[in-house]
Amino acid sequence: MTIFSRIIAGEIPSYKIAEDDNFFAFLDINPVSWGHTLVVPKQETDYIFDLSDETLSDMMVFAKKVAAALKSVIPCRKVGVAVLGLEVPHAHIHLIPITKEGDMDFKHKIADPDPARMADIAAKVNDAFEKLG
Ligand code: 5GP
Repeated sequence: MTIFSRIIAGEIPSYKIAEDDNFFAFLDINPVSWGHTLVVPKQETDYIFDLSDETLSDMMVFAKKVAAALKSVIPCRKVGVAVLGLEVPHAHIHLIPITKEGDMDFKHKIADPDPARMADIAAKVNDAFEKLG
């Protein structure tokens, strides 16, 4: 079981953003910018391009809704999208609120992100996601 499957199962706590039958979104524990979110399929597949066409496209549509919720809460110009997958072998899309290119630099993480701020962001983005219907 991957660490992300354990998060989805609730065995490991996370700052949950959104969930449906097939996908789960939560804040990255080491964000590069505030609101940095991971979107993962509940199905355990390592490499994103090994997902079926249907799962891959549904995942991007789910990410689109998460991005809209993020953008309504976090002041930013756009929500950037990245896929790396070098650390955790469970496909995931990074959604990162950005105003400038440097906001998406994976070499510069926010040092010791305040748990209260993370929880506040997650609650607000979750609320915005639910309101999108
Ligand atoms: P990647 O696999 O895309 O290279 O990086 C994995 C990402 O998952 C990293 O940005 C890392 O901070 C995040 N991550 C790793 N373990 C956990 C975890 O237990 N909880 C959360 N919320 N994020 C994690």
